[in-house]
Amino acid sequence: MDNRLRSIFLLSFIGLFWLLLNACNSEKNPETSATETRTATVQQADRNPVHVEQVPITDQTVTTTQTVAIQTLTNNLNTSRNTQYNIRAELDYTNHILNVEETINYFNNTTEPINDLLLMVEPAYYPNAFTLQSLVWEGGESIQDFSWEKTRIRIPLTKPLQQSEDISLEISYRLNLPSPETSPNIRPIPFGYTERQTNLVDWYPFIPPYIPGEGWLAHDAGYYGEHLAYAISDFDVAIKILDGNDSLVIAASSPAEMDAEWHTYRYDNARGFAWSISHQYQVYTENVGGVTVYSYAFPVHPEAGKAVLKTTAEALELYSRLYGPYPRSTISAVEADFLDGMEYDGMYFLSNGFYNLYQNTPGEYLIAIAAHETAHQWFYAQVGNDQALEPWLDEALCTYNERLFYENYHPEALDWWWNYRVFFYKPGGWVNDSIYNPHGATNAYRAYRDAVYLNGALFLEDIRLLIGDDSFFKFLKAYVEEYKYKLATGENFFLLLRSFTNKDIDPVINQYFSK
Ligand SMILES: [Zn+2]
Repeated sequence: MDNRLRSIFLLSFIGLFWLLLNACNSEKNPETSATETRTATVQQADRNPVHVEQVPITDQTVTTTQTVAIQTLTNNLNTSRNTQYNIRAELDYTNHILNVEETINYFNNTTEPINDLLLMVEPAYYPNAFTLQSLVWEGGESIQDFSWEKTRIRIPLTKPLQQSEDISLEISYRLNLPSPETSPNIRPIPFGYTERQTNLVDWYPFIPPYIPGEGWLAHDAGYYGEHLAYAISDFDVAIKILDGNDSLVIAASSPAEMDAEWHTYRYDNARGFAWSISHQYQVYTENVGGVTVYSYAFPVHPEAGKAVLKTTAEALELYSRLYGPYPRSTISAVEADFLDGMEYDGMYFLSNGFYNLYQNTPGEYLIAIAAHETAHQWFYAQVGNDQALEPWLDEALCTYNERLFYENYHPEALDWWWNYRVFFYKPGGWVNDSIYNPHGATNAYRAYRDAVYLNGALFLEDIRLLIGDDSFFKFLKAYVEEYKYKLATGENFFLLLRSFTNKDIDPVINQYFSK
Protein backbone atom coordinates (compact mmCIF):
# COMPACT_ATOMS: atom_id res chain seq x y z
CA MET A 1 0.00 0.00 0.00
CA ASP A 2 1.21 3.50 -0.72
CA ASN A 3 1.99 6.06 1.92
CA ARG A 4 -1.37 7.68 1.73
CA LEU A 5 -3.21 4.41 2.13
CA ARG A 6 -0.90 3.46 4.95
CA SER A 7 -1.71 6.75 6.67
CA ILE A 8 -5.38 6.20 6.20
CA PHE A 9 -5.09 2.67 7.47
CA LEU A 10 -3.03 3.82 10.42
CA LEU A 11 -5.51 6.53 11.21
CA SER A 12 -8.37 4.11 11.03
CA PHE A 13 -6.52 1.72 13.27
CA ILE A 14 -5.68 4.40 15.79
CA GLY A 15 -9.26 5.56 15.53
CA LEU A 16 -10.61 2.14 16.31
CA PHE A 17 -8.19 1.75 19.19
CA TRP A 18 -9.22 5.07 20.60
CA LEU A 19 -12.86 4.22 20.24
CA LEU A 20 -12.28 1.11 22.25
CA LEU A 21 -10.84 3.23 24.99
CA ASN A 22 -13.16 6.14 24.78
CA ALA A 23 -15.51 7.58 22.26
CA CYS A 24 -17.02 10.97 22.28
CA ASN A 25 -20.13 10.69 23.33
CA SER A 26 -19.26 7.83 25.25
CA GLU A 27 -19.98 5.79 22.64
CA LYS A 28 -18.94 2.48 22.47
CA ASN A 29 -16.91 -0.34 22.45
CA PRO A 30 -17.61 -1.64 19.04
CA GLU A 31 -16.58 -5.17 19.62
CA THR A 32 -17.28 -5.81 23.16
CA SER A 33 -20.46 -7.43 22.13
CA ALA A 34 -20.09 -11.02 21.41
CA THR A 35 -20.03 -12.99 24.58
CA GLU A 36 -21.86 -11.09 27.15
CA THR A 37 -25.01 -9.99 28.75
CA ARG A 38 -27.67 -11.18 26.42
CA THR A 39 -29.61 -11.80 29.57
CA ALA A 40 -30.47 -8.20 30.05
CA THR A 41 -33.37 -8.04 27.63
CA VAL A 42 -35.38 -5.38 29.28
CA GLN A 43 -39.03 -5.22 29.74
CA GLN A 44 -38.85 -1.51 29.06
CA ALA A 45 -37.78 -2.37 25.57
CA ASP A 46 -41.19 -3.45 24.42
CA ARG A 47 -42.85 -0.20 25.18
CA ASN A 48 -44.94 1.16 22.36
CA PRO A 49 -43.34 3.89 20.30
CA VAL A 50 -44.04 7.43 21.33
CA HIS A 51 -46.94 9.02 19.57
CA VAL A 52 -47.22 12.75 19.62
CA GLU A 53 -49.10 15.12 17.46
CA GLN A 54 -47.59 16.00 14.10
CA VAL A 55 -46.07 19.42 13.88
CA PRO A 56 -44.06 20.87 11.04
CA ILE A 57 -40.38 20.31 11.42
CA THR A 58 -39.28 23.83 10.62
CA ASP A 59 -40.71 26.87 12.27
CA GLN A 60 -42.32 28.19 9.13
CA THR A 61 -45.76 27.77 10.66
CA VAL A 62 -46.06 30.18 13.52
CA THR A 63 -48.04 28.71 16.40
CA THR A 64 -49.65 30.69 19.17
CA THR A 65 -46.80 29.88 21.52
CA GLN A 66 -44.31 31.02 18.93
CA THR A 67 -46.23 34.23 18.37
CA VAL A 68 -46.01 34.94 22.07
CA ALA A 69 -42.31 34.06 22.02
CA ILE A 70 -41.67 36.37 19.07
CA GLN A 71 -43.54 39.18 20.79
CA THR A 72 -41.54 38.62 23.96
CA LEU A 73 -38.36 38.67 21.92
CA THR A 74 -39.39 41.89 20.20
CA ASN A 75 -40.26 43.48 23.52
CA ASN A 76 -36.86 42.50 24.83
CA LEU A 77 -34.95 43.78 21.84
CA ASN A 78 -34.27 47.12 23.45
CA THR A 79 -32.83 45.62 26.59
CA SER A 80 -31.06 42.53 25.32
CA ARG A 81 -28.84 41.67 22.41
CA ASN A 82 -26.67 38.73 21.52
CA THR A 83 -22.93 39.10 21.31
CA GLN A 84 -22.01 39.72 17.65
CA TYR A 85 -19.04 38.01 16.03
CA ASN A 86 -17.80 39.24 12.69
CA ILE A 87 -15.05 36.97 11.44
CA ARG A 88 -13.01 37.04 8.23
CA ALA A 89 -10.77 34.02 7.79
CA GLU A 90 -8.31 33.15 5.03
CA LEU A 91 -7.27 29.52 4.85
CA ASP A 92 -4.13 28.14 3.30
CA TYR A 93 -5.46 24.60 3.02
CA THR A 94 -2.20 23.05 1.85
CA ASN A 95 -0.08 24.59 4.59
CA HIS A 96 -2.72 24.42 7.32
CA ILE A 97 -2.66 28.10 8.21
CA LEU A 98 -5.65 30.28 8.97
CA ASN A 99 -5.34 34.07 9.24
CA VAL A 100 -8.27 35.65 11.00
CA GLU A 101 -9.61 39.11 11.68
CA GLU A 102 -12.40 39.08 14.21
CA THR A 103 -14.60 41.79 15.66
CA ILE A 104 -16.59 41.12 18.81
CA ASN A 105 -19.41 43.36 19.92
CA TYR A 106 -20.35 42.44 23.47
CA PHE A 107 -23.63 43.65 24.92
CA ASN A 108 -24.12 43.48 28.67
CA ASN A 109 -27.52 41.87 28.98
CA THR A 110 -26.87 40.79 32.54
CA THR A 111 -28.22 42.58 35.59
CA GLU A 112 -24.92 43.94 36.89
CA PRO A 113 -21.88 45.99 35.78
CA ILE A 114 -19.01 43.98 34.31
CA ASN A 115 -15.44 44.91 35.26
CA ASP A 116 -13.45 42.95 32.69
CA LEU A 117 -13.90 40.94 29.52
CA LEU A 118 -12.81 37.34 29.16
CA LEU A 119 -11.87 35.68 25.88
CA MET A 120 -11.82 31.90 25.66
CA VAL A 121 -9.01 30.92 23.26
CA GLU A 122 -9.32 27.18 22.77
CA PRO A 123 -6.67 26.86 20.03
CA ALA A 124 -4.16 27.99 22.68
CA TYR A 125 -4.41 24.52 24.20
CA TYR A 126 -2.28 23.34 21.25
CA PRO A 127 1.42 24.21 21.30
CA ASN A 128 2.22 27.06 18.86
CA ALA A 129 -1.22 26.87 17.27
CA PHE A 130 -2.40 30.38 18.21
CA THR A 131 -0.42 33.54 17.47
CA LEU A 132 -1.97 36.81 18.57
CA GLN A 133 -1.20 39.59 16.09
CA SER A 134 -3.21 42.48 17.40
CA LEU A 135 -5.84 43.30 19.96
CA VAL A 136 -7.48 46.72 19.76
CA TRP A 137 -10.63 48.48 20.85
CA GLU A 138 -13.08 49.56 18.22
CA GLY A 139 -11.48 52.61 16.61
CA GLY A 140 -7.99 51.19 16.76
CA GLU A 141 -6.72 52.02 20.24
CA SER A 142 -4.39 49.19 21.26
CA ILE A 143 -5.34 47.08 24.25
CA GLN A 144 -2.14 46.91 26.30
CA ASP A 145 -3.12 45.70 29.72
CA PHE A 146 -4.64 42.35 28.91
CA SER A 147 -3.25 39.22 30.52
CA TRP A 148 -3.15 35.56 29.58
CA GLU A 149 -4.64 33.15 32.10
CA LYS A 150 -3.75 29.74 30.73
CA THR A 151 -5.72 29.73 27.48
CA ARG A 152 -7.82 32.80 28.27
CA ILE A 153 -7.28 36.49 27.72
CA ARG A 154 -8.56 38.77 30.44
CA ILE A 155 -9.07 42.43 29.52
CA PRO A 156 -9.69 44.90 32.35
CA LEU A 157 -12.14 47.71 31.58
CA THR A 158 -11.24 51.25 32.59
CA LYS A 159 -14.82 51.75 33.64
CA PRO A 160 -17.35 48.98 34.28
CA LEU A 161 -19.65 48.04 31.41
CA GLN A 162 -23.11 48.86 32.69
CA GLN A 163 -26.25 46.88 32.00
CA SER A 164 -27.42 47.42 28.38
CA GLU A 165 -24.10 49.00 27.35
CA ASP A 166 -21.99 47.42 24.66
CA ILE A 167 -18.32 47.37 23.80
CA SER A 168 -16.39 46.25 20.72
CA LEU A 169 -12.91 44.95 20.18
CA GLU A 170 -10.94 43.65 17.22
CA ILE A 171 -8.53 40.77 17.34
CA SER A 172 -6.22 39.47 14.62
CA TYR A 173 -4.52 36.13 14.90
CA ARG A 174 -2.96 33.31 13.01
CA LEU A 175 -3.72 29.65 13.55
CA ASN A 176 -1.11 27.04 12.72
CA LEU A 177 -3.55 24.20 12.67
CA PRO A 178 -2.47 21.16 14.65
CA SER A 179 -1.98 17.76 13.05
CA PRO A 180 -3.55 14.62 14.46
CA GLU A 181 -1.18 14.58 17.40
CA THR A 182 -3.54 16.19 19.81
CA SER A 183 -2.61 18.43 22.66
CA PRO A 184 -1.72 16.62 25.89
CA ASN A 185 -3.76 19.30 27.63
CA ILE A 186 -7.13 18.69 26.09
CA ARG A 187 -9.20 15.69 25.11
CA PRO A 188 -9.18 14.78 21.43
CA ILE A 189 -11.60 16.94 19.52
CA PRO A 190 -11.96 17.42 15.79
CA PHE A 191 -9.73 20.48 15.57
CA GLY A 192 -6.92 20.65 13.03
CA TYR A 193 -6.02 18.81 9.87
CA THR A 194 -5.38 15.33 8.54
CA GLU A 195 -4.47 14.22 5.03
CA ARG A 196 -8.15 14.20 4.17
CA GLN A 197 -9.72 17.16 5.92
CA THR A 198 -9.35 20.29 8.06
CA ASN A 199 -11.79 20.85 10.92
CA LEU A 200 -12.41 24.20 12.58
CA VAL A 201 -14.26 23.94 15.88
CA ASP A 202 -14.02 26.42 18.77
CA TRP A 203 -11.47 28.09 16.53
CA TYR A 204 -12.08 31.77 17.36
CA PRO A 205 -11.76 33.60 20.69
CA PHE A 206 -15.20 33.97 22.23
CA ILE A 207 -16.77 35.49 25.32
CA PRO A 208 -18.32 32.95 27.69
CA PRO A 209 -21.65 33.40 29.48
CA TYR A 210 -21.64 35.83 32.41
CA ILE A 211 -23.56 34.73 35.49
CA PRO A 212 -24.60 37.66 37.74
CA GLY A 213 -23.12 37.28 41.18
CA GLU A 214 -20.64 34.69 39.96
CA GLY A 215 -18.85 36.13 36.95
CA TRP A 216 -17.67 34.49 33.75
CA LEU A 217 -18.66 30.85 33.29
CA ALA A 218 -15.28 29.50 32.22
CA HIS A 219 -13.83 26.09 32.99
CA ASP A 220 -10.56 24.36 32.19
CA ALA A 221 -10.52 21.43 29.81
CA GLY A 222 -10.76 17.98 31.28
CA TYR A 223 -9.34 14.95 29.57
CA TYR A 224 -12.82 13.66 28.85
CA GLY A 225 -16.09 15.46 28.47
CA GLU A 226 -16.77 18.93 27.11
CA HIS A 227 -15.82 21.83 29.36
CA LEU A 228 -17.26 24.88 27.62
CA ALA A 229 -20.44 26.82 28.15
CA TYR A 230 -21.66 29.09 25.37
CA ALA A 231 -23.85 32.16 25.36
CA ILE A 232 -26.23 32.44 22.44
CA SER A 233 -24.54 34.70 19.86
CA ASP A 234 -24.83 35.93 16.28
CA PHE A 235 -22.19 35.12 13.69
CA ASP A 236 -21.17 36.79 10.45
CA VAL A 237 -18.41 34.65 8.99
CA ALA A 238 -16.53 35.02 5.70
CA ILE A 239 -14.08 32.39 4.56
CA LYS A 240 -11.63 32.62 1.68
CA ILE A 241 -9.62 29.62 0.53
CA LEU A 242 -6.26 30.94 -0.66
CA ASP A 243 -5.24 27.85 -2.56
CA GLY A 244 -8.71 26.79 -3.55
CA ASN A 245 -9.55 24.32 -6.26
CA ASP A 246 -12.78 22.81 -7.44
CA SER A 247 -12.46 19.66 -5.38
CA LEU A 248 -12.55 21.45 -2.04
CA VAL A 249 -15.89 21.16 -0.27
CA ILE A 250 -16.85 23.12 2.85
CA ALA A 251 -19.28 21.79 5.44
CA ALA A 252 -20.49 24.36 7.95
CA SER A 253 -22.98 25.19 10.68
CA SER A 254 -25.08 27.11 8.17
CA PRO A 255 -25.50 27.44 4.40
CA ALA A 256 -23.01 29.58 2.45
CA GLU A 257 -23.51 32.40 0.02
CA MET A 258 -20.77 33.38 -2.38
CA ASP A 259 -19.46 36.93 -2.46
CA ALA A 260 -16.69 36.95 -5.05
CA GLU A 261 -14.04 34.69 -3.54
CA TRP A 262 -15.63 34.70 -0.12
CA HIS A 263 -17.93 32.05 1.30
CA THR A 264 -20.17 34.04 3.63
CA TYR A 265 -22.33 32.78 6.44
CA ARG A 266 -24.89 34.43 8.67
CA TYR A 267 -25.79 32.35 11.71
CA ASP A 268 -27.88 33.86 14.49
CA ASN A 269 -28.93 32.62 17.91
CA ALA A 270 -26.20 30.03 17.91
CA ARG A 271 -23.81 28.50 20.41
CA GLY A 272 -21.03 28.68 17.85
CA PHE A 273 -19.96 28.40 14.24
CA ALA A 274 -18.00 25.33 13.12
CA TRP A 275 -16.79 24.27 9.69
CA SER A 276 -14.83 21.58 7.94
CA ILE A 277 -13.18 21.39 4.53
CA SER A 278 -11.89 18.51 2.46
CA HIS A 279 -10.82 17.67 -1.07
CA GLN A 280 -12.43 14.24 -0.64
CA TYR A 281 -15.93 14.77 0.69
CA GLN A 282 -18.77 12.96 -1.00
CA VAL A 283 -21.96 14.81 -0.18
CA TYR A 284 -25.36 13.18 0.33
CA THR A 285 -28.44 15.31 0.89
CA GLU A 286 -32.06 14.89 1.78
CA ASN A 287 -34.81 17.37 2.49
CA VAL A 288 -36.97 16.73 5.50
CA GLY A 289 -39.78 19.14 6.34
CA GLY A 290 -37.95 22.11 4.83
CA VAL A 291 -34.56 21.31 6.40
CA THR A 292 -31.71 20.21 4.15
CA VAL A 293 -29.73 17.40 5.74
CA TYR A 294 -26.13 16.98 4.53
CA SER A 295 -23.91 13.98 5.11
CA TYR A 296 -20.22 14.47 4.24
CA ALA A 297 -18.28 11.24 4.01
CA PHE A 298 -15.04 9.99 2.52
CA PRO A 299 -15.28 8.08 -0.77
CA VAL A 300 -14.54 4.76 0.92
CA HIS A 301 -17.74 4.92 2.95
CA PRO A 302 -20.72 5.57 0.66
CA GLU A 303 -23.09 3.20 2.46
CA ALA A 304 -22.22 4.53 5.90
CA GLY A 305 -22.48 8.10 4.61
CA LYS A 306 -26.00 7.41 3.34
CA ALA A 307 -26.93 5.67 6.59
CA VAL A 308 -25.84 8.73 8.56
CA LEU A 309 -27.95 10.89 6.24
CA LYS A 310 -31.05 8.76 6.73
CA THR A 311 -30.58 8.51 10.49
CA THR A 312 -30.05 12.25 10.86
CA ALA A 313 -33.17 12.96 8.78
CA GLU A 314 -35.28 10.52 10.79
CA ALA A 315 -33.96 11.76 14.11
CA LEU A 316 -34.56 15.36 13.08
CA GLU A 317 -38.16 14.55 12.23
CA LEU A 318 -38.72 12.70 15.52
CA TYR A 319 -37.15 15.30 17.80
CA SER A 320 -38.96 18.10 15.99
CA ARG A 321 -42.22 16.39 16.80
CA LEU A 322 -41.23 15.75 20.40
CA TYR A 323 -39.54 19.02 21.35
CA GLY A 324 -40.52 21.63 18.81
CA PRO A 325 -39.16 22.68 15.42
CA TYR A 326 -35.52 22.52 14.46
CA PRO A 327 -34.75 26.23 14.06
CA ARG A 328 -32.22 25.97 11.20
CA SER A 329 -32.45 25.46 7.45
CA THR A 330 -29.62 22.89 7.35
CA ILE A 331 -27.88 20.29 9.46
CA SER A 332 -24.57 18.69 8.50
CA ALA A 333 -23.03 15.40 9.61
CA VAL A 334 -19.31 15.08 8.86
CA GLU A 335 -17.10 11.99 8.89
CA ALA A 336 -14.03 12.89 10.94
CA ASP A 337 -10.51 11.51 10.96
CA PHE A 338 -10.26 12.67 14.52
CA LEU A 339 -10.78 10.02 17.06
CA ASP A 340 -14.10 11.05 18.35
CA GLY A 341 -17.54 12.33 17.56
CA MET A 342 -18.71 15.75 18.62
CA GLU A 343 -21.70 18.00 18.42
CA TYR A 344 -21.61 21.60 17.28
CA ASP A 345 -24.39 24.00 16.48
CA GLY A 346 -25.90 23.05 13.13
CA MET A 347 -23.39 20.27 12.51
CA TYR A 348 -21.70 17.31 14.10
CA PHE A 349 -18.69 15.07 13.54
CA LEU A 350 -18.61 11.27 13.71
CA SER A 351 -15.39 9.31 13.92
CA ASN A 352 -14.38 7.35 10.84
CA GLY A 353 -14.11 4.37 13.24
CA PHE A 354 -17.92 4.11 13.27
CA TYR A 355 -18.00 4.27 9.46
CA ASN A 356 -15.32 1.58 9.17
CA LEU A 357 -17.34 -0.81 11.30
CA TYR A 358 -20.70 -0.18 9.65
CA GLN A 359 -22.40 -3.36 8.39
CA ASN A 360 -25.67 -2.00 7.10
CA THR A 361 -27.83 -2.87 10.08
CA PRO A 362 -29.65 -0.53 12.49
CA GLY A 363 -28.11 -2.08 15.60
CA GLU A 364 -24.76 -0.34 15.27
CA TYR A 365 -22.92 2.48 16.88
CA LEU A 366 -22.86 4.55 13.68
CA ILE A 367 -26.65 4.73 13.82
CA ALA A 368 -27.00 5.16 17.58
CA ILE A 369 -24.43 7.93 17.73
CA ALA A 370 -25.83 9.76 14.69
CA ALA A 371 -29.18 9.83 16.51
CA HIS A 372 -27.39 10.98 19.67
CA GLU A 373 -25.54 13.82 17.97
CA THR A 374 -28.68 15.01 16.21
CA ALA A 375 -30.42 15.24 19.59
CA HIS A 376 -27.71 17.69 20.71
CA GLN A 377 -29.31 20.24 18.38
CA TRP A 378 -32.01 20.47 21.07
CA PHE A 379 -29.99 19.59 24.19
CA TYR A 380 -26.82 21.69 23.84
CA ALA A 381 -27.54 23.99 20.89
CA GLN A 382 -31.03 25.17 21.85
CA VAL A 383 -31.07 24.41 25.57
CA GLY A 384 -27.55 25.18 26.76
CA ASN A 385 -25.94 24.04 29.98
CA ASP A 386 -22.70 24.11 31.91
CA GLN A 387 -21.13 21.14 30.15
CA ALA A 388 -18.28 20.83 32.65
CA LEU A 389 -20.22 20.79 35.90
CA GLU A 390 -23.59 19.45 34.76
CA PRO A 391 -22.83 17.37 31.67
CA TRP A 392 -25.79 15.08 32.31
CA LEU A 393 -28.18 17.82 31.22
CA ASP A 394 -27.22 17.33 27.61
CA GLU A 395 -25.54 13.91 27.59
CA ALA A 396 -28.09 11.87 29.54
CA LEU A 397 -30.88 13.40 27.48
CA CYS A 398 -29.11 12.75 24.17
CA THR A 399 -28.33 9.17 25.15
CA TYR A 400 -31.97 8.67 26.07
CA ASN A 401 -32.93 10.12 22.70
CA GLU A 402 -31.06 7.24 21.07
CA ARG A 403 -33.55 4.98 22.83
CA LEU A 404 -36.45 7.07 21.50
CA PHE A 405 -34.98 6.89 18.01
CA TYR A 406 -34.84 3.07 18.13
CA GLU A 407 -38.25 2.82 19.73
CA ASN A 408 -39.72 4.81 16.83
CA TYR A 409 -37.73 3.74 13.79
CA HIS A 410 -36.02 0.45 14.57
CA PRO A 411 -37.86 -1.30 17.40
CA GLU A 412 -36.27 -4.55 16.24
CA ALA A 413 -32.89 -3.17 17.33
CA LEU A 414 -34.02 -1.75 20.66
CA ASP A 415 -32.90 -4.83 22.58
CA TRP A 416 -29.51 -4.48 20.95
CA TRP A 417 -29.37 -0.89 22.09
CA TRP A 418 -30.23 -1.62 25.69
CA ASN A 419 -27.91 -4.60 25.90
CA TYR A 420 -24.84 -3.37 24.09
CA ARG A 421 -25.08 0.34 24.59
CA VAL A 422 -26.19 0.30 28.23
CA PHE A 423 -26.39 -2.95 30.21
CA PHE A 424 -23.17 -4.44 28.98
CA TYR A 425 -21.33 -1.78 31.00
CA LYS A 426 -23.37 -2.40 34.14
CA PRO A 427 -23.56 1.35 34.55
CA GLY A 428 -23.31 2.92 37.99
CA GLY A 429 -22.17 6.19 39.50
CA TRP A 430 -23.88 9.49 40.12
CA VAL A 431 -25.61 10.94 37.11
CA ASN A 432 -24.71 14.48 38.24
CA ASP A 433 -20.94 13.89 38.15
CA SER A 434 -18.84 16.66 36.65
CA ILE A 435 -16.21 16.03 33.97
CA TYR A 436 -13.52 16.46 36.64
CA ASN A 437 -14.66 13.71 38.93
CA PRO A 438 -11.58 11.51 39.06
CA HIS A 439 -13.23 8.17 39.85
CA GLY A 440 -9.80 6.81 40.65
CA ALA A 441 -6.97 6.91 38.20
CA THR A 442 -7.82 3.97 35.97
CA ASN A 443 -10.56 4.06 33.41
CA ALA A 444 -11.89 7.39 34.60
CA TYR A 445 -13.50 7.99 31.23
CA ARG A 446 -15.47 4.79 31.45
CA ALA A 447 -16.67 5.69 34.95
CA TYR A 448 -17.71 9.14 33.73
CA ARG A 449 -19.50 7.81 30.66
CA ASP A 450 -21.23 5.03 32.59
CA ALA A 451 -22.52 7.46 35.22
CA VAL A 452 -23.47 10.49 33.14
CA TYR A 453 -24.59 8.96 29.85
CA LEU A 454 -25.71 5.44 30.62
CA ASN A 455 -26.97 5.71 34.17
CA GLY A 456 -28.42 9.03 33.02
CA ALA A 457 -30.46 7.20 30.38
CA LEU A 458 -31.62 4.67 32.98
CA PHE A 459 -32.66 7.53 35.25
CA LEU A 460 -34.78 9.05 32.48
CA GLU A 461 -36.30 5.65 31.71
CA ASP A 462 -37.28 5.25 35.38
CA ILE A 463 -38.75 8.73 35.52
CA ARG A 464 -40.74 8.03 32.36
CA LEU A 465 -42.07 4.74 33.79
CA LEU A 466 -43.02 6.49 37.04
CA ILE A 467 -44.80 9.56 35.68
CA GLY A 468 -46.10 8.08 32.42
CA ASP A 469 -45.48 8.96 28.77
CA ASP A 470 -47.95 11.81 28.67
CA SER A 471 -46.36 13.78 31.52
CA PHE A 472 -42.83 12.79 30.54
CA PHE A 473 -43.04 14.10 26.98
CA LYS A 474 -45.05 17.17 27.92
CA PHE A 475 -42.35 17.98 30.45
CA LEU A 476 -39.49 17.55 27.97
CA LYS A 477 -41.22 19.73 25.41
CA ALA A 478 -41.89 22.41 28.02
CA TYR A 479 -38.26 22.19 29.19
CA VAL A 480 -37.03 22.94 25.65
CA GLU A 481 -39.54 25.77 25.22
CA GLU A 482 -38.67 27.33 28.58
CA TYR A 483 -34.89 27.18 28.22
CA LYS A 484 -34.47 27.57 24.48
CA TYR A 485 -31.45 29.84 23.83
CA LYS A 486 -30.73 29.99 27.56
CA LEU A 487 -28.60 27.97 29.96
CA ALA A 488 -30.55 25.47 32.04
CA THR A 489 -29.42 24.01 35.36
CA GLY A 490 -30.27 20.76 37.10
CA GLU A 491 -32.32 22.79 39.53
CA ASN A 492 -34.34 24.23 36.62
CA PHE A 493 -34.82 20.72 35.25
CA PHE A 494 -36.18 19.24 38.47
CA LEU A 495 -38.35 22.23 39.35
CA LEU A 496 -40.08 22.01 35.98
CA LEU A 497 -40.31 18.22 36.13
CA ARG A 498 -42.09 18.36 39.49
CA SER A 499 -44.71 20.68 38.03
CA PHE A 500 -45.67 17.98 35.50
CA THR A 501 -46.41 15.16 37.95
CA ASN A 502 -48.05 14.43 41.27
CA LYS A 503 -45.90 11.33 41.72
CA ASP A 504 -43.14 11.24 44.32
CA ILE A 505 -40.02 11.38 42.16
CA ASP A 506 -37.59 11.73 45.09
CA PRO A 507 -36.80 8.01 45.45
CA VAL A 508 -35.74 7.88 41.79
CA ILE A 509 -33.69 11.07 42.10
CA ASN A 510 -32.01 9.79 45.26
CA GLN A 511 -31.14 6.56 43.51
CA TYR A 512 -29.24 8.31 40.69
CA PHE A 513 -28.11 11.70 42.01
CA SER A 514 -25.70 12.61 44.78
CA LYS A 515 -26.87 15.38 47.07
ZN1 LIG B 1 -23.24 13.66 23.44
